[in-house]
Amino acid sequence: MKTPRIDIFKEALKTGVVTKKYPFEPVEAPEGFRGKPSIDFEKCIGCEACVNICPPNALSVEIDTKRGIKRVMLFLGRCIFCGRCQDVCPTEAIKLSREFELSSLNSKDLYQIVELKMAKCKICGRYYATVRQILFTAKNVPKDQRPLLLLCDECRSKVSAKHISYARW
Ligand code: SF4
Ligand code: SF4
Repeated sequence: MKTPRIDIFKEALKTGVVTKKYPFEPVEAPEGFRGKPSIDFEKCIGCEACVNICPPNALSVEIDTKRGIKRVMLFLGRCIFCGRCQDVCPTEAIKLSREFELSSLNSKDLYQIVELKMAKCKICGRYYATVRQILFTAKNVPKDQRPLLLLCDECRSKVSAKHISYARW
């Protein structure tokens, strides 16, 4: 049976106004809303976990081999607010906020860029990881193995391979 219109009207009067006059008055997004991600420049170690997991490539990385700088770049124009970057970041440097007003006349406003200093491999002299990433990893590596962190992947595997073959003899 259909509800008479007058009853609907009475119910609406009882409930009152539930809409907001946005954008003429501010609206706060609810708890758990997935809005604009932000990178904490102090916490980011440049590990690239977020870059590798980001589905639309809103996150990217650039390495300046001359200056030894790694840039982690977030372009909000591509972001789909999935929150995967937040899930994988080992230092909680990237987090989604409840901010949703992102329009801008200048696309530069949609970029967040972190610049991190890189370290050179002690053997081959190539830049291979950020200084912050090495320090972060060192915390979870036994003391006697820490010198290996000062080498790039390639030199580290060569050194480890030599070490293993010496050990066999
Ligand atoms: S929220 Fe999703 S799309 Fe946006 S930067 Fe993070 S991983 Fe990429
Ligand atoms: S995962 Fe976190 S620490 Fe690693 S590059 Fe992304 S924001 Fe920086």
